[in-house]
Amino acid sequence: MLMLSKYSIGVGDRFAHQAKAQLRACMKAEEHGAEVVPVWNKSHREHTTIGSEPGSVRAAADAAVKELGWKKPYYVDADHIRLETVDGFLASSDFYTIDVADSIGKPAVADAVKAFADQHSDLVGRLTIPGIDAPFQTTRADVERIAGKYLLAVQEAGRIYRHIASAKGEGRFITEVSMDETDSPQTPPELLVILAAISDEGIPIQTIAPKFTGRFNKGVDYVGDVNQFEKEFAEDLAVIAFAVRKFGLPQNLKLSVHSGSDKFSLYAPIRRALARTGAGLHVKTAGTNWLEEVIGLAEAGGEGLALAKEIYGKALDKKDTLCAPYAAVIDIDASKLPSKEEVAGWSSEQFASALRHDQSCPAFNPSLRQLIHVGYKIAAQMGDRYLKMLETCEPTIAKNVTGNLYDRHLKPLFVQG
Ligand SMILES: [Zn+2]
Repeated sequence: MLMLSKYSIGVGDRFAHQAKAQLRACMKAEEHGAEVVPVWNKSHREHTTIGSEPGSVRAAADAAVKELGWKKPYYVDADHIRLETVDGFLASSDFYTIDVADSIGKPAVADAVKAFADQHSDLVGRLTIPGIDAPFQTTRADVERIAGKYLLAVQEAGRIYRHIASAKGEGRFITEVSMDETDSPQTPPELLVILAAISDEGIPIQTIAPKFTGRFNKGVDYVGDVNQFEKEFAEDLAVIAFAVRKFGLPQNLKLSVHSGSDKFSLYAPIRRALARTGAGLHVKTAGTNWLEEVIGLAEAGGEGLALAKEIYGKALDKKDTLCAPYAAVIDIDASKLPSKEEVAGWSSEQFASALRHDQSCPAFNPSLRQLIHVGYKIAAQMGDRYLKMLETCEPTIAKNVTGNLYDRHLKPLFVQG
């Protein structure tokens, strides 16, 4: 069976031009003693916005791996797929993030809930989970309530898993189940019930993306109670380790942190938890790499800088349309967005330092960064003009893409200090 390594990083590459620069960050981590395997992820939504095909992600990944001589595993993730969108990814992906968030809260048939509760009397009563201080007290009514909320979603995940398995063959791809795009974080008893149901469905899940407490805004730091996050993260790890033994799930089952880029204030707590428990981790990043492309364009000066300014100006014009699909995962203060005229007068240095995620830099502007984050559609509409400029400015872009992934992500998370 294809087994995902202990540490892995999802590297989104929206315009399929940064695979080498991203792989270099993993190679750098390896030189410093940390094996972190790359997983190139791109969702149906990103493909639709950009007008790309799933096969292009595989082609870019294969080419980068070949050219740089990477000998460790790597994967191509069909990110957030559903039954109606999975088919386009069957030929090129070997990692599937099955998204069933839309089915959470929709009731399963009453008989299925009752059958689940009958079969899982082991989840009723006093549950002591190693690594969680206080035991949980659950009643049969609790189990039925939780199953009522999640069972349909897990059954849907089972249908999608079997559909992929029938096309690709069992054991020939990695399965993730994501429940991050929902309203409230799952409690430890909920996660335990979900994992029991996943086991019952026969899904050989290797990564699970729960919803965590706090806000995971796109491209910027975590907003929320870091101590509460650390507590819940530790509880999730404990429940997963417990469920692996109890339900016979794959030994390497680990957490997947979506929108995991740029959450700098969480990396020390996450690192502590991994060191304490020996758990693995998958962290998904996507838009942070596109932002580095824009920084690289700006740094290159000349036409590159002019194009970066044009992207900002058009994003500002279309702010409301661009932000609407991302409303739940961005917090832009419109009063902090500079005018097009002001930005037109900026130097490379001014543009790059407003956009680069360096919280110690007074010029850093998180509102501008989030607007450009959701503005990749503008670059997609520029078509060849944008792609040609990526090639012209390749050296400064690659330096920023590699540096961001390694220095600000892989190093604080995985490399020994
Ligand atoms: Zn996600």
